[in-house]
Amino acid sequence: MDASELNDHTVAAMKEKFIQEFGTGKEISFFRAPARVNIIGEHTDYNNGYVLPIAIDRSIVAAAVKRDDRMFRMRSLNFPEAVTASLDGLKYDLSKGWGNYPLGVAQVMEKAGIAVCGADIIFNGNIPLGGGLSSSAAIEVLMANILLGLTGTTIEKEQIPVLCKQAENEFIGVQCGIMDQFISALGKANHAIFLDCGTMDYRHIPFRMADRVAVIVGNTKVKRELAHSAYNQRVRECAEAVELLRKQLGRTEINSLSDIDSEEFTSCKKSLPDLLEKRADHVINENARVKEAITALENDDMKTLGALLLQSHASLRDKYEVSCGELDHIVESFMSCDGVYGARMTGAGFGGSAIALVPTEQKDAVIEQSAKEYKRLTGIDGEFYACSIADGAGRM
Ligand code: ADP
Ligand code: MG
Repeated sequence: MDASELNDHTVAAMKEKFIQEFGTGKEISFFRAPARVNIIGEHTDYNNGYVLPIAIDRSIVAAAVKRDDRMFRMRSLNFPEAVTASLDGLKYDLSKGWGNYPLGVAQVMEKAGIAVCGADIIFNGNIPLGGGLSSSAAIEVLMANILLGLTGTTIEKEQIPVLCKQAENEFIGVQCGIMDQFISALGKANHAIFLDCGTMDYRHIPFRMADRVAVIVGNTKVKRELAHSAYNQRVRECAEAVELLRKQLGRTEINSLSDIDSEEFTSCKKSLPDLLEKRADHVINENARVKEAITALENDDMKTLGALLLQSHASLRDKYEVSCGELDHIVESFMSCDGVYGARMTGAGFGGSAIALVPTEQKDAVIEQSAKEYKRLTGIDGEFYACSIADGAGRM
C-alpha cells in the first residue's frame, strides 16, 4: 500500500483476500488503528512524564470473523508468514514473528478477565515497520478493538492502552511507556492529546492551525537492530537516576524523574554521575518543554513551538543520546528549507522518522528540497510526506 489513507478500495480488496484465505459464510467486520507522531515529550512516558502526540492518517486495518473455538488464524499482507495459534498455553514464540503482537494482547486481555474469542483475521497496514511511528502500538490497539468488537464487550476506552502496553512490556519484552498505545486508541482528528503519564489525566488540545500548518514526516529509512535493547537500557538508567536523586534530596515519595522539576534538578544534578545527569536532564527539561508547547499551541504560536521542537531534538541527541547521524541530517535538511518552524526526531530514535512543522503553502517545496538535501548528506533516499491528524482506533 502507498502513502494514501486506507479507503473503501482497501476494504473491498481485503474482503476478497479474506474470502480467498478463510472462505466465506460469516459476516466480516473491519477495524482500524492509526500510527502516531509525537509532537514533543520524547522518552518521558515511561518516566511518568508529559507527552503531546497526534494520531495520523497511516494505519493498520483488519478484516476479522469470530470463531467458535479458541484458535487464531491470522495473515498480514505486510508479512509472508501466516500465523496459527491457540489461546491456550500462549507464550512468546520467535517462530511466530509478527503474530506475537496480536497474540500477546489476546493473552493479556484474557488474564484481565475480559471476554476474548478465537478469530480469523487479515491485517493490512501502511505504517512503515520500525519507522518510528509505532506500528507495534497500532497492531496491539487494533487487536484489542477486534476482540472487543467480535465479543461485543465494552470496556473503558482508557483501559485499552493499559492492556496493550502490558502486552508489549510483558509478552514482547519491550519496556515501552504508554504514549503510543494511548494516542492510537484515543486520538481525535485535528487534536493533539496532552497526557500526563504519571496520573493518566489527559486532555484533547485543538490543533486549530491544522489547515495552515502541515506536519511533515521524514523517514530516515534506517532502523537500528539495537533499538529495543538500547531503549530498555535508557529505562534502567532513568531508574538508577531516580534512586540516587531520591536519596540525595531526602524525598522518599519520589517515584520517577517527573516528580522533580527543572529548578529542583538544578540544585542537585551534580550529585549524579555524568551519564545519569544527562539522562535525567533530558527527561526533566523535556517535561517543561511539553508544558510550554501546549501554551504555544493554544496561542497558535508556531514560532515558539518550532523552537521547542529544535530544543527537544538537541536534548535527545546530546543528553539522551538516542538520535543518530541520519536523524540529525534529516532535521538539518528540514531546517535548510525556507519557512520551516522547527523539526525533531519523533519516536524512540536510533533511526526511524523525524517531523517538521511547515506553513501549508510551503509543504510541497519542503518535501522536495529536504528529500534532496537528505540524499546529498547521507546518500539515502528517505521518504517524505505530509500527514493529517486522524481519529483513534475503532470499527470501520
Ligand atoms: P515500530 O517503531 O514501528 O513500532 P517495532 O519494532 O516496535 O517498530 O514494531 C514493529 C513490529 O510490529 C513488526 O516487526 C511486526 O512484528 C509488528 N507489526 C507492525 N505492523 C504490522 C502489520 N501491518 N502486520 C503485522 N505485524 C505488524
Ligand atoms: Mg514499537
